[in-house]
This record gives sequence, structure tokens and C-alpha cells, in this order.
Amino acid sequence: MFQLGHCNGVFQYPKLSPLVHLRRERTPTKMSLQGQSVPSRTQRIMESIAVSGEVGGAGGAYSYNALKRLDKIWSSICSTQTVSQEPPQVVSSFPHVSSHSDLTGKKVDRFDVIVCGGTLGIFIATTLSAKGLRVGIVERNILKGREQEWNISKKELLELVEVGILTEDDIEQATAATFNPNRCGFEDKGEIWVEDILNLGVSPVKLIEVMKKRFISLGGVILEGYSVSNICVYEDAAVLQLVEGNTLSSRLIIDAMGNFSPVVKQIRRGRKPDGVCLVVGSCARGFKENSTSDVIYSSSSVKKIGDSELQYFWEAFPAGSGPIDRTIYMFTYVNPQPGLPKLEDLLEDYWDLMPKYQGVSLENLEILRVVYGIFPTYRDRHAIHELKFYALLELILSIIVQFMEQYFYAFHELVFKSNILNS
Ligand SMILES: Cc1cc2nc3c(=O)[nH]c(=O)nc-3n(C[C@H](O)[C@H](O)[C@H](O)COP(=O)(O)OP(=O)(O)OC[C@H]3O[C@@H](n4cnc5c(N)ncnc54)[C@H](O)[C@@H]3O)c2cc1C
Repeated sequence: MFQLGHCNGVFQYPKLSPLVHLRRERTPTKMSLQGQSVPSRTQRIMESIAVSGEVGGAGGAYSYNALKRLDKIWSSICSTQTVSQEPPQVVSSFPHVSSHSDLTGKKVDRFDVIVCGGTLGIFIATTLSAKGLRVGIVERNILKGREQEWNISKKELLELVEVGILTEDDIEQATAATFNPNRCGFEDKGEIWVEDILNLGVSPVKLIEVMKKRFISLGGVILEGYSVSNICVYEDAAVLQLVEGNTLSSRLIIDAMGNFSPVVKQIRRGRKPDGVCLVVGSCARGFKENSTSDVIYSSSSVKKIGDSELQYFWEAFPAGSGPIDRTIYMFTYVNPQPGLPKLEDLLEDYWDLMPKYQGVSLENLEILRVVYGIFPTYRDRHAIHELKFYALLELILSIIVQFMEQYFYAFHELVFKSNILNS
């Protein structure tokens, strides 16, 4: 039996070694010896930055090692034919069986709702706690927002005020940057300037901290450092088994484990994604022109790489860390196949193209953080409802952020889902 450290509603698994206290990355010695590869510009830039505050959610890892790990996943997606190895079965259903058969003799924590994955999951969890339900969150890392700001429209955040889990004051406290107007433009096709679209930089650290306090004050329970192992759906309840050995039971389980959720892997049966959005970028200091943003901007036409054609799109936002700090993302949409560039290759293009796009010189910039991510998408986004374990008991509800076509829709999806749960 595990002894949990319990502090104000947060249970931490004692052996947890969170990502959040990474020590400074070692600057590599120059490698020019025979047989040893010279570090790429990306590696040199990334390893010269002190990495701190890495967290579990998407875009929350900034180190070169984490980039290499994600590139490995990306390469294996590209090399998969149509289906990779059948993923492990995480969810099983037992339609005519009572959960008592599984729970007898076990120490069980009982909930009305368990949310698996805490980054955006905590917003849903708090909404449900405010309705008087007993809600638990299972998060495999420390539940903490990333350093890198979320760009979002105020209107979207105000919807969370409407559902009653944030106040306007909370939004003000968490808002690190506000900027207008916002540009949309394509090469040689002119520009459109808009107002109030993705015009806030919000601190995930602050926003999630506020949510965490509110959730706990409503009686919510957070299991930090615990991972979902498997879920059995019975006639009367779902039983969630954690890797660390704990057993939880609940009437509803919500999957908020992000793009690489094991539940979604099972649903997709290892199928290769139809499309992937790749994103790389940085938050850097040294931009004198820093009052407006680019919601979407393309400064070059389609580029042929091997058999594939890529078009790069940009997003650029003033960052809250200082008046000359700016976040700039370069992203592209591809059909995964062998021969496509890795994220590190895209970053190499980024260091060449970003200064031209922003009218600056790379030498005059201080790179504060390098960010990256991949977003798999599937054409049949509604296939999820055909799953047996949905049809039988409707106990599992998956938040399918991974089906969004553009990653900035994440919050939008969250608000949408919160509204559904609220109604
Ligand atoms: C570089 C980058 C920039 C981005 N910028 C923005 C932006 O500006 N605005 C915006 O709205 N979105 C942005 N996004 C999209 C981003 O993906 C979402 O905003 C948000 O992080 C999605 O949250 P999520 O909770 O759905 O998924 P995730 O952030 O992936 O969180 C999933 C959580 O589940 C946990 N988890 C996973 N597996 C398990 C398990 N087995 N057991 C328990 N817990 C588990 C993880 O630790 C994690 O905390 C960006 C993404 C990237 C990569």
C-alpha cells in the first residue's frame, strides 16, 4: 500500500521526479573530432539556454533532449505504413457486470468524475466541482502551467467567466500581454488587419495556479505524479487503475491527456494520422517593433522537400516577459510519410527565415526559449462515438483536442466542452 503525501487536496506520489526542476543543460564541448558530429545550430542555441520550468503539457518542454525525443516519435509516425503496432488496451468494457466484482477487498477512492490529465483538464474539473460533484484529477506530472504564454482572444477567456470558474480579475492577473491590431496576410495577396483576435498573452503558470486553488477549495482532489494504467467500464461505474497501484472508481471519466492520450491511441488502433501540424518557434528578446501581432502570415510560397511540398506559416506575438520580447511560431501542415523534415530541420529553417520575416538579425536576438510540437489530425473525427465503450454506458467522454485542425483552437474546444458539460 502506498503512503501518499497529502497537502491541501493534492496527493503527490513520493517517487515523483518532476520535470520542473531540470538543472542547467551542459554546454557541449565543441565536437570536431573524426566520427563525432558537429552540433547543429539548433543544438548549440538550445544547449546555451538555461532550461527551467519544464512541465508535462504540450509546448511545456524546451530542452534539446526533449526535442530529440519528440523527433523520434515524429520519425516513427512518418515511417509507419498505415497502422503501427496495435497499442495497448487501456479501456475495456464489461456491460452486464457490476463493478463490485472488481472492487471487493480493494481500497478504493470513489468519485463522481475523474479527469485524466490536468493541463486543460483542471478547467473542466473545476466546472464540475462547482456543480457539487466529487471530482478527482489524475496527472502524471506536477500540475503546473508552462512558462510559454498561451495566446488567446479575451472573448474566449470570458466564456470561462460565464461558466463561473474564473473572474475578470483572475484574467487580468494572468494576462501578461495585450496587443492590437492583429495581422493576417499571404505573400503577394495583401493583408487584413483585425482587432481582438488572439490578442492576449496569458500566463499558464498563473492561470493554472488560480484554477488549482479554486478546485481544491471546492473539495477537488488532485493526484499528482500518478499515471493512468487502465480503465474498466462496468454496468454501474468505471474503475480506474493507476500505474502506482491505486484503484479509483467513478461514474464519469474524462480523457484530457492531450495529443498522445493512451485512450485515443486505443481508439485509433495505432492508425497513422491523416495529417500533422508541425510547429517550431522561440520566445526571444530584441524586437524594437513589438506592438502588433500576426495571427497568420505566410511570406513564402510552397517549398519542395523530397517528395513533399511544404508551406510555412507564421504567428508572432508580443510576449509578457519584456517590452522587446516576442514569441514567433513557424508551422506547417503535412501528410506524414518518410523523408519529411524533422522538427530540428524545421528549426534550422526557422533560424534562417525568422529574422528576415521580422526584419531583425539573429545575432542581435537573445533567445529565451525554443518551443516545438506536433499535432496529429484524423479525417473521421466523429469515429470516436462508434466506440463500444461509449455506446454501452457513455461513461467515458474524451476531450478530443487532438482532432483540432489548428492548435490554437485548444482553448476554444475547452470552452465549448465546458459549455456542454455545464448545460
Ligand atoms: C509550441 C506550442 C505552442 C502552443 N501555443 C498555444 C497557444 O498559444 N494557445 C493555445 O490555446 N494553445 C496553444 N498550444 C496548444 C496546446 O496544445 C494547448 O493549449 C494545451 O496545452 C492543450 O492542453 P491539453 O490539456 O489538452 O493537453 P496537454 O497540454 O498535452 O496536457 C495533457 C496532460 O495530460 C497528462 N497526461 C498524459 N498522459 C497521462 C497519463 N497516462 N496519466 C496521467 N496524466 C497524463 C500530461 O502530463 C499533461 O499534463 C500550443 C502547443 C504547442 C506545442
